[in-house]
Amino acid sequence: MLNQKKKKASQIRSQAQAKSSRVSAISAKKLADGVLVGDRTALGKAITLIESTNVHHQAAAKELLKLLMSHTGKSLRLGITGVPGAGKSTFIEALGMYLIEQGHRVAVLAIDPSSDISRGSILGDKTRMTHLAQQAQSFIRPSPSGGVLGGVARKTRESILICEAAGYDVIIVETMGVGQSEILVRSMVDFFLLMQITGSGDELQGIKKGVIEIADAIVINKADGENKAAALSVKNELTSALHYLSPATPGWTPRVFTASALTGEGIPELWKIILDFKDVTGKSAFFQKRRQDQALKWFQDLLKDGVAELLKKHPGLKRQLKVLEKSISQNEITPPAAADELLSVLQEIFATYPDF
Ligand code: GDP
Repeated sequence: MLNQKKKKASQIRSQAQAKSSRVSAISAKKLADGVLVGDRTALGKAITLIESTNVHHQAAAKELLKLLMSHTGKSLRLGITGVPGAGKSTFIEALGMYLIEQGHRVAVLAIDPSSDISRGSILGDKTRMTHLAQQAQSFIRPSPSGGVLGGVARKTRESILICEAAGYDVIIVETMGVGQSEILVRSMVDFFLLMQITGSGDELQGIKKGVIEIADAIVINKADGENKAAALSVKNELTSALHYLSPATPGWTPRVFTASALTGEGIPELWKIILDFKDVTGKSAFFQKRRQDQALKWFQDLLKDGVAELLKKHPGLKRQLKVLEKSISQNEITPPAAADELLSVLQEIFATYPDF
C-alpha cells in the first residue's frame, strides 16, 4: 500500500516536471527567436530569465542558452575597471557612441559587487549613459542584484552570450573593482582596460595591488584642461613601471595612454589599440586559447559550486556536514580530517558506480 502511494506520488512528480519542462521549452523558444532578430525587449527578458533564481525560470534559461549557443562567440569582449568617479560611464558612453558611428552594435553589462555589500548599487543608482542608452544599436544592463559575487559573475557570463546572439559585436563589461571583481571580469573578457586618474599623489600607490598585472591597457582619464600635464607624467610613470611586470597577455605589451571622456580625445586611439591587440593575439592564437581556457574554467567553477550544492542538499550528507562543522568549531577535529571523513563517504558512494 505504502509502495503504491510512493509510486503514485513519484508519477505525479515526474508528470509535473515534464509539463514544466515543456512550458519552459516553449517560452525559451519564443524568447530565443526574439533575441535572434535583435528585439531588445526580448533580450531584456532573456537576461531577466537568466538572472532569476526560480527553478522553473532556471530550466527555461538553460534551454534558452542551448538554443542560442551556436550564435555566440562572435563579439569582442572588453572589460573596464576603475574607482568610482574615475569616469567609466562617461568614457564608455563616448566609446559606445564612437563605435556605433563606425557601424558597431554595443552592449554594456555591469558587475557591481557593492549591491551585495551595501544593498545599494553604486553603478546602478545613478542614471548613467543616457545618450548611449537611447541609441538603437546599444543595449545597457545594470548589474544583477543580490547574491554572491561569483553568482553575479556567472549571470554576466551568460548575459554576454545572449547579447552576442542578439548581434552585439562589442560587449563591454564594467566593474569598479570591489573585492575580486576585476579578476572575475578578466576571466570573461578578451581585453581588459584599467582606468586611472591623476591627483592621488603617488599614483602607483592608488592602484590595487595586482590590477596592473591583469591589464592589457591603462588609460589615464580626465587628461584635459589643467590636468593634462599631470596625466602625461602619470602615463610615463606607469609606462616605466610596466617594464618590470610580466604582461597579462603573452606576446602583448600593455599600452598606457591618456584620454578625456569629456572631449572624446583618446577614444579612437583605444579602439586602434584594441584592434591591434586582436590582430596580434589572433595571429599567435592566444585569443582563441584564452577563450577556451575561460570556458573550461567556467565549467570547472560550475562543477565545484554544483557539487557543494549537492552536498548541502542530500539529507544524510547534510547531517554529516553539520556534525563535522560543529566538531571543527569545538576543536574536536581538524578541518583536513573532517574533509577526509566526508570525502571518504563520497568515495564509497562513487565506488558503487565504477563505470560512470
Ligand atoms: P564612474 O563612477 O567611474 O562611472 O565616473 P563618471 O563617468 O560618473 O564620472 C565622474 C565625474 O567625472 C563626472 O562628473 C564626470 O563628468 C567627470 N568626468 C568623467 N570623465 C571626465 C573627463 O575625461 N574629464 C573631466 N574633466 N571630467 C570627467
